[in-house]
Amino acid sequence: MRKQVIAGNWKMNKVHTEAEDFIQTSKNEVPSSDQVESVICAPFPFLQKLVEETKGTPLEIGAQNMHFEEKGAFTGEVSPVMLKELGVTYVVLGHSERREIFKETDEEVNKKVHAAFNHNLTPIICVGETLDQREADQTMDHVEGQVKKALEGLTDEQAAKVIIAYEPIWAIGTGRTATSEQANEVCTHIRKVVADFVNSDAAEAVRIQYGGSVKPANVDELLSQSDIDGALVGGASLEADSFLKLVEAGK
Ligand code: PEP
Repeated sequence: MRKQVIAGNWKMNKVHTEAEDFIQTSKNEVPSSDQVESVICAPFPFLQKLVEETKGTPLEIGAQNMHFEEKGAFTGEVSPVMLKELGVTYVVLGHSERREIFKETDEEVNKKVHAAFNHNLTPIICVGETLDQREADQTMDHVEGQVKKALEGLTDEQAAKVIIAYEPIWAIGTGRTATSEQANEVCTHIRKVVADFVNSDAAEAVRIQYGGSVKPANVDELLSQSDIDGALVGGASLEADSFLKLVEAGK
């Protein structure tokens, strides 16, 4: 039985006081980590404080990106070593906004996934198609290519531990959610890709989230699907009461 993972992605939102208020309200209200994994992926400047404040609670703190190198002349970047030192436990990699706006490639995402494992961070690897790709019937091939490239070179044990977030780009921040059947169809395909590319044990273990305009009103139906093991949530993770409803749904 796979445990659901509900991860909030705050993106470039909130100021320090708002981040603190959110954490104070929610850190002791999220269900125990035996029932569901609850994660907030916050902007870099808040990470240290939020990790300190959530110590001993079931709420985990993640980052939204990182560089794959440990250190060096990469102005403006943050390394996996720095994140690990802070006590961060998850990192979102290859979000479609990073792929589209910052031109991140599948190769870079793969290097980051390796770097995450080298530093004991759990990668949440985002994959998903554009509207044009969906309309051209390229969804499955596109997502398959992204998943294989992201997992390239991992050990079977590592591959079993990744979290893959299936996020159709046309559903992110648009209010337009994939139907639960559309979402599950792609998540089922991703699990099959993992079975073929790695092995059946890894496919059975890997957690696959859906992301794209998830909110309290649609989360139950999405999470009830056979191959959806959680959600990566932008807009609806910004308010504590809404985030708490989402993690409750993951129990
Ligand atoms: C996201 O940021 O990954 C996301 C899915 O955003 P939203 O929930 O706002 O669509």
